[in-house]
Amino acid sequence: MTENLNIPAPAAKPAISEAFAALGLAQPLLQAVADLGFTQPTLVQQAAIPKAMQVGTEGHEYTDLMVSSQTGSGKTAAFLLPVLHTLIEQQEARDAQERADWDRQVAEAEAAGKPAPKRPKRKNPLLARHFKPATPGALVLCPTRELAQQVAHDGIDLVKHCRGLRIANVVGGMPYQMQIAKLQNADLVVATPGRLLDLQRSGQIQLDQVQFLVVDEADRMLDLGFADDLAEINRLTARRRQTMMFSATFAPRIQTLATRVMRDPQKVQIDTPQDRHVNIEQRLYWCDSPEHKRKLLDHWLRDAAIDQAIVFASTQIECDALAADLQQAGFAAVALHGALSQGLRNRRLMALRNGQVQILVATDVAARGIDVPTITHVFNYGLPMKAEDYTHRIGRTGRAGRQGLAVTMAEFRDRRKIGEIEAYSQQRIETQTIPGLEPRKPVYEFNDDRRGGRGGRQGRHGTGRNEGGFRGAPHHARGTGEGARVGFSKPAGSGGPGRQAFGDKRARHQDSKSFAGKGRASR
Ligand code: AMP
Repeated sequence: MTENLNIPAPAAKPAISEAFAALGLAQPLLQAVADLGFTQPTLVQQAAIPKAMQVGTEGHEYTDLMVSSQTGSGKTAAFLLPVLHTLIEQQEARDAQERADWDRQVAEAEAAGKPAPKRPKRKNPLLARHFKPATPGALVLCPTRELAQQVAHDGIDLVKHCRGLRIANVVGGMPYQMQIAKLQNADLVVATPGRLLDLQRSGQIQLDQVQFLVVDEADRMLDLGFADDLAEINRLTARRRQTMMFSATFAPRIQTLATRVMRDPQKVQIDTPQDRHVNIEQRLYWCDSPEHKRKLLDHWLRDAAIDQAIVFASTQIECDALAADLQQAGFAAVALHGALSQGLRNRRLMALRNGQVQILVATDVAARGIDVPTITHVFNYGLPMKAEDYTHRIGRTGRAGRQGLAVTMAEFRDRRKIGEIEAYSQQRIETQTIPGLEPRKPVYEFNDDRRGGRGGRQGRHGTGRNEGGFRGAPHHARGTGEGARVGFSKPAGSGGPGRQAFGDKRARHQDSKSFAGKGRASR
């Protein structure tokens, strides 16, 4: 009798995408891209990768790129793939040279009748006597720790089939010694500027071998006051042959930075403000008071369509208080902001990623760079300081081609800010109300007073349908009329392990007197 051992067949390797292969990327990168399930390059990848790969070819001693692209568009792979491609080619050339030198030494020894030479022993870089400062060939600068970690993580995924190519992540708030150890022999370093310059000044890293410099989210870099650090890094990496700058906009201050750090850059502009975020539905709810706003949030958080959500707060204090309240109410909620230790921020992000956390209450800086495809909803509970942060916030949902919903709650005093956001994104955010939770003032009064928008006013008796002839209103905007509440369909691929637990949490939450008790019936 034959025994059935039930040995599973080895999993087939995902097929290499022809579209990526056509870009001319090295085989190990094509394999990694296939493992990640990418079949087609995104628009920004199609536009930027071939241009970036021209560097070093005839007539392209330098190829600097200035790329305007939204987060969520695949921009990280757009800069990592061409840089890694060149690093791989250079490493292969070095390895081939070493092999040839070795073969020659062996042949010479044989010809002279001498014993074969011994291969030199590898030195342990962690021993102090073998210490050499890191000399990376590529440097990616990010404005925040979270983004730097995300980019390094994406890089590690992309080099998983490359032998000996090392990626290191240098961010403030992480133990210094551990980062120094990880830096050893790093080929590509992803860093926030402050910690990088600390390590450079203390002799742990030298930047004069950097050939490729990427400045990610350049607009945010300037917002966070990194202009001087960028100037210093620009000077330290003066021998580089490529600079790529990614930014949500080409605003004048970005152009000024570009002229300082780039040589005759080619521009790649993918998204216009009008067609950004087509897969994210945006809604606006007007509120009478903070209490009213809170009731709206409570109402929304009970929506069964939520897989995971980010609730944005304006301040760290508001962030902590709201997260504590939501936990009390039985939600798997945590706070994320810049005053928390980096270790804690990492643990909380990990818990979000692996589904243990359903609701992340965050400030703008902390949430930048979060890439979790199961985030279905973003709530703007406290409005952002700057209009462009709105765009970054809502980009936390609708990742990798999925659908997302961004809900903004604003009080009467916020109407100017709403106008600014709409002017910046050149989109009218559709106003809606929830039956039983309507503001006391008629909605048109809020809308009539919106300032700063480019498209004039909403009709007095607006129905919520792209009212008032606002120019640039997206064709996808779904006007539903005041009082209507459109069910949000769950994005494909949401759910999965851990979802049941959230269901339980919600059930508990509905019993909770402290939170759900303040139901909309009271209004
Ligand atoms: P980014 O704009 O770099 O933050 O990327 C957003 C998301 O898109 C990430 O989850 C990436 O893994 C994913 N992504 C990047 N490139 C592709 C692609 N060609 N196909 C599908 N997903 C992608």
